[in-house]
Amino acid sequence: MLSLPQPTVASSPNVPVVPMTENGPVLEIILRHIYPYPDPPIDTLDELVQVLEVARKYDFTSVIDRLRRRLVAAQFLEACPLRVYAIASRYDLDDEAKLASRATLSAGLDQLPVHDDLKSMSGFAYHRLLQLHKQRAPDALALLELPDDVRCMSCNGRRDTVDHPPRWWAHYEEAAKEELLARPTSDVVCSLPFLQRAAFASGCERCAGSILSSFWFFDQLRQKIDALPATV
Ligand SMILES: [Zn+2]
Repeated sequence: MLSLPQPTVASSPNVPVVPMTENGPVLEIILRHIYPYPDPPIDTLDELVQVLEVARKYDFTSVIDRLRRRLVAAQFLEACPLRVYAIASRYDLDDEAKLASRATLSAGLDQLPVHDDLKSMSGFAYHRLLQLHKQRAPDALALLELPDDVRCMSCNGRRDTVDHPPRWWAHYEEAAKEELLARPTSDVVCSLPFLQRAAFASGCERCAGSILSSFWFFDQLRQKIDALPATV
């Protein structure tokens, strides 16, 4: 049976003292997770990692489970998806790593800041993330095909232009390719401001109406992009 180590000289005759290597704030968070009170706030990933490390050391399973949920809270996932992925990978938290990998798609891998947490991530974990981005981008680009029945009353108003795509499409396609290579999700390329820019760039006053009447196409495009594999 395990026994707690005791110091040679107690600070009080009635209160046993157990020396521990962890600092007070971290221990307080751990203990407040164990006691039947609401979980204490954890404001930073640095703090969360320190607490998670101690919870793992002492095998506090229920605390670990709650810290796992905290790790992928929107507060961290949206602000630092790559750090969350690195932390989850480091501790073999597969479900959290998957959620974080999905969040990196919207942020764009090249745009995310480098942090020391990445040093603890294995090359294998980073390679899987790179592969996800590298595979999803061309798969999303392949979906950029305009149906034949999407036309503009002005651009396609003459006999020699009736079979051409409306002018907004070239501007949209070029910008969408650039966007999808950086962030292979439907978030931006199906958004109204993005479509408005294509309409404006076309120089055609009827192209905005063409885009508006093609919303079914963008709805389908969104669904198809969203259906692509999105996690490691
Ligand atoms: Zn037009």
